Amino acid sequence: MPRPIQATIKASALAHNLSVARKAAPDAKVWAVVKANAYGHGLVAAARALEQADGYAMLDFEEAIRLRLQGVKKPILLLEGFFKAQDVPLLVEYDLTPVVHTLEQIEILEKATLAKPIDAYLKVNSGMNRLGFTVDNVRIGWNALHGHEKIREVTLMTHFADADGVSGVADQLEWFNSLTQPMQGPRSLANSAALLRFPQTHADWVRPGIMLYGCSPFADQDADDLGLKPVMTLTTEIIALQNLQAGERVGYGFGFEATEEMTIAVIACGYADGYPRLAPTGTPVLVRGERTRTIGRVSMDMICIDVTALPEAYIGTPVTLWGEGLSADEVAASAGTLSYELLCGLAARVPVVEVP
Ligand SMILES: *Cc1c(COP(=O)(O)O)cnc(C)c1O
Repeated sequence: MPRPIQATIKASALAHNLSVARKAAPDAKVWAVVKANAYGHGLVAAARALEQADGYAMLDFEEAIRLRLQGVKKPILLLEGFFKAQDVPLLVEYDLTPVVHTLEQIEILEKATLAKPIDAYLKVNSGMNRLGFTVDNVRIGWNALHGHEKIREVTLMTHFADADGVSGVADQLEWFNSLTQPMQGPRSLANSAALLRFPQTHADWVRPGIMLYGCSPFADQDADDLGLKPVMTLTTEIIALQNLQAGERVGYGFGFEATEEMTIAVIACGYADGYPRLAPTGTPVLVRGERTRTIGRVSMDMICIDVTALPEAYIGTPVTLWGEGLSADEVAASAGTLSYELLCGLAARVPVVEVP
């Protein structure tokens, strides 16, 4: 038998979360963001479960081509565009829509001979200062793409730095609107947070990622409250038990010391499975649906948990690390990170089981 850990991916929850996105932005088309192997859920299966989306957005040529070879006909958006001149023939061959965000990319496109026309996105830096053109260069980029005989439709896009935070979107939205005001064309601005909180950002295409996977983009509102359902549930089993007396210590660095008699269980999951190593004592876990807490340091392959109040816990008892019944957002918050990182960090050694 393999180690008992596994990640279950629920296709109906993905479809449900997509319908939540559609209801929140009824007039926009939806790019389902499936970068990073669909946030760790498995690209091909996730894309299939999200077949009601209008297109898929990702980063890697390799992943985009994998979807095309699976028969996906919908538009595919490459969020960082292309990297080298050698990539351009692949855009044409696989009908991929690049985001164009540097003058270097424009120069490459101008020198290339495209066998067939493609669409492109022009990325505007509206204040995040990561990717995109601003001020005069927006105009240069726009004119170059419009003047290119093999570029069909040009969509204007930007990305928000703090749609989930206190700054919101107002300043970036105003800057984007003023920079692009003279340009006619479709627009795409909203990630999950903007989609859910700022209808004025919906425009023509929205780009939800994390919400499709059933997690909340907000620290102050949970996924349940947003009507989202968890897609990935990471489960394992108890593989050993220890009885501790007061003063006995647990794990690497003796990171926990019992103050009274207690029973702990060892579960088959560790940081090499993608569980956050920095999750402190007290991070929640479910033992056959009952909440308890981790004890001591997370090690590579094992974590200890408190089962003192759970006398039925025994070897083989199922344990949920995150997912149904325990949100990845809550576990991430305890570990000082985001659900994004937990989901994307699921290790390749964890078997993935798809369920309807
Ligand atoms: C990742 C990404 C998204 C999706 O963001 P979420 O916060 O997961 O909804 C949207 N747009 C761009 C450009 C991205 O890189």
